[in-house]
Amino acid sequence: MSDCIFCKIANHEMDSDIVYEDGKVIAFRDLEPQAPVHILIVPKEHIATTLDLTEKDNELIGHIYQVASEIAEEEDIAEDGFRVVNNCNESGGQTVFHLHFHLLGGRNLQWPPG
Ligand code: AMP
Repeated sequence: MSDCIFCKIANHEMDSDIVYEDGKVIAFRDLEPQAPVHILIVPKEHIATTLDLTEKDNELIGHIYQVASEIAEEEDIAEDGFRVVNNCNESGGQTVFHLHFHLLGGRNLQWPPG
């Protein structure tokens, strides 16, 4: 989608601090980090929200979690622990309507979230 910032980042039309990329996903550091490690893992295909996922995306979601684990190891937060979060729609806290997963770690994360 031409007016989507995460599509622009995925297409390298907009700068970002990329930590991982393959044919299906791109991962980059969040502009407003909520933890010492805060990375967004984003499918390159424009999917607006979790509600738009279909059975054809099952492999993609598994892949995203695999990438999250690999990045957590590389960022040295795997052993201490980390969180993978997807916000869906307004009350879920979603502000960018291109599916993404937050990888957070490097500090004690509170539960339940606010
Ligand atoms: P959400 O609120 O779950 O939709 O998450 C959107 C996230 O994208 C927020 O944590 C923002 O800080 C982050 N964000 C927005 N624009 C950019 C950008 N250009 N580069 C990196 N992170 C961004």
